[in-house]
Amino acid sequence: MMTPPPPPTEEAARKRSASDFVFGKVIGEGSFSTVYLAKDIHTNKEFAIKVLEKRHMIREKKMEYVLREKKMLQILSGCTNYFVKLYCTFQDAERLYFVLTYAKNGELLPHITKNGSWNLECTKYYAAELVLALEQLNDKGIVHRDLKPENILFDENWHILLIDFGSAKIMTAEDKKENEEDGRKRKNSFVGTAQYVSPEILRNLETSYASDLWALGCIIYQMISRSHPFHAGSEYLIFQKILKLEYEFPEDFDETAKNLVKELLVLNPTKRLGAADIKPYSSIRQHEFFGDIDWDNIGPPPKIL
Ligand code: ATP
Repeated sequence: MMTPPPPPTEEAARKRSASDFVFGKVIGEGSFSTVYLAKDIHTNKEFAIKVLEKRHMIREKKMEYVLREKKMLQILSGCTNYFVKLYCTFQDAERLYFVLTYAKNGELLPHITKNGSWNLECTKYYAAELVLALEQLNDKGIVHRDLKPENILFDENWHILLIDFGSAKIMTAEDKKENEEDGRKRKNSFVGTAQYVSPEILRNLETSYASDLWALGCIIYQMISRSHPFHAGSEYLIFQKILKLEYEFPEDFDETAKNLVKELLVLNPTKRLGAADIKPYSSIRQHEFFGDIDWDNIGPPPKIL
């Protein structure tokens, strides 16, 4: 006779609520959420809790973004590195709560925009971590679609943690219908952020994993030059530049990095480096820019402070 599984412990069985946490300072604000540092009163462990006002979400018709983010984070829960983990969700009458890994060292953005010690070694290391994260996303069938330095955070050991999966898309067959409906609704609008959005998203064409490779190219460009490849006075003008692939490299831009960026910022998504790889993203791994990266053991991060 089979032994029945042990009953769940009282703690595991109990649904969490806001009263299980002490809420501390606000650590971030998005268009639809406020993120708090919070401590679990039972374990003293720190978490980031993303709080969303139900009324606001419903009024702005953003419930699908929240549900999508939850679904994506659940799919990614088996991935040990490079993604915030969703520990649990709960709600009260007014709000929804997402309990997430606390990314102790904040966002990547200030490090690459301010004059600090960020250098080519840092770019190489963190671009490699991004490639490893994109490999895992590809493996799970997910396109992030809003990859940008504001959505790349650092954990306590200065490894990256990707956040903000509200615009992500699943590439599996059963989700195709949902995606197509999504595409129709999206006519004349776009998902993502102007400076990093791929030409196929702008043209309302089918998105693919290669849309994240475009964003990777933009981020590597920005890590090296501290500015965006496509910049202009308005979103409209940025979009025009993207669609015409109108950008320039500063004179002192590293030559091998320039070559990598050029191979990622390709208008035709199927021609982007990595897009046609049988084993994603082996061709990016083999690019000479990553010559001294040990992909099986990327090692500790370089000092960036
Ligand atoms: P958006 O306007 O970009 O759609 P959003 O409402 O989806 O925002 P997030 O981007 O998830 O919210 O979070 C807002 C900010 O909160 C982030 O830019 C980041 O600075 C901070 N933040 C989010 N999650 C965490 C986390 N796990 N640890 C630390 N800080 C976080």
